[in-house]
Amino acid sequence: MNRIHDGLLTIKGIFLYERFLKKSKYFSDEEIKILQDKWLSKLLKHCYKNIPSYSSSFRECGLDVNSVDPLRELQKLPILTKRDIQSNHGSFCVAGAAKKSVRFSTSGTTGEPMTAYTSFNQWVFEQGIVWRQWKDAGYNFRDKIAIFRSYAPRDGQPLIKKDRLRNWSYFSVYDMSESDVDLYAKYLQKWKPKFLRGYPSALNLIAEHALRNGWQLPSLKAAFSASEVVPVNLRKNLREAFNIDLFDHYGQAEITCMFHECEQHEGMHLNWEYGLVELLPTDEKNVYRIIATNLHNFSMPLLRYDTGDLAVGFWEKCKCNRSAMKIESIRGRRDDYLVMSDGSFTSAVNLYTYFAYFSGIKKFQLIQECIGELIIMVEFYGVITDENWEELTGQIINDLKSKTNLLIKCPRETHFTQSGQGKFSAFIQRVKNVS
Ligand SMILES: [Zn+2]
Repeated sequence: MNRIHDGLLTIKGIFLYERFLKKSKYFSDEEIKILQDKWLSKLLKHCYKNIPSYSSSFRECGLDVNSVDPLRELQKLPILTKRDIQSNHGSFCVAGAAKKSVRFSTSGTTGEPMTAYTSFNQWVFEQGIVWRQWKDAGYNFRDKIAIFRSYAPRDGQPLIKKDRLRNWSYFSVYDMSESDVDLYAKYLQKWKPKFLRGYPSALNLIAEHALRNGWQLPSLKAAFSASEVVPVNLRKNLREAFNIDLFDHYGQAEITCMFHECEQHEGMHLNWEYGLVELLPTDEKNVYRIIATNLHNFSMPLLRYDTGDLAVGFWEKCKCNRSAMKIESIRGRRDDYLVMSDGSFTSAVNLYTYFAYFSGIKKFQLIQECIGELIIMVEFYGVITDENWEELTGQIINDLKSKTNLLIKCPRETHFTQSGQGKFSAFIQRVKNVS
């Protein structure tokens, strides 16, 4: 897809917002049900007729595409996994899918990439719904946004790139040393952005730098984040540094469902116009698997797709009056789990809080390469002597050993790992076949 086409779909998304999405956020439960049934019914008929893999599974499961209750019919299907699709990719696509789709590649920490084709209409919904969250946070076209993602400068290119049409500035998240952030801070204070947008880890570095050095950005209205679990101290840091709130976004490259935070900041709303979501219980209390069906993807529909991500909290209504249900939070991928010495699992997120409140830590990353062991990369503020290092890491090792019973290693030579897109994960799971 070229830039002009991309821009055109974005404009269509904005029209869809003006015409429909602006109002549909306040639709009644009955209105939602009627529309979702209509879309799902159309999608199931299309799948039966045009997608080989679904034609056969519908027959096997006795799924009736003409039923008046398409949701009940959908639930006759087994859960679809990434592996199912990878093993027979072509049979999940409509003929000629590549030509009439936006193409995405899922990366994931599992190292098993998958190509997902998304039809233009689903992408228009995506654009319109993201636009809606921005509007809800007070965004107007050409408001200045400072973006900490999506930009990887090549040799000789500047660390900051400007998009003059939209009035956005992109900052390299590959270059976030103290002196780089000094440079960004000066630019931001002069440029006066209205919004921050980016990976939570990058936004946190900016807010912490501002707090440490006492600079402010009174022009800011809000921050948008996506793609990583929000660290526990980010919201507090953004409030203290810039007096703004964070609007988190959850989605995936498979384009099956999207959740957004509203101005109440009390959980994540499902965007019901975009995808259907079932929450299936796990062994852990109050934690659910997110199983999703995209409603407008006619190129490569994913029916009851296991996103691999987990939700905390079951559906509830929000006091903001939106009809869409919300959940407490999204915990991230199932492979964000530590494998304990006895082979059981525990969420690595549990350890993040420990680091957030351990004063003096600038940055940390947990890496598990084999069962029963955990490597901790840690960087402290200021100059650390060997003696200090022993003392500080000794405490971390003892504390975490008693919490997890894992063998903890803190190498003196720290090396932080970023993904291909510059995304930073606080936890990297390298034990094979975890999920
Ligand atoms: Zn709400």
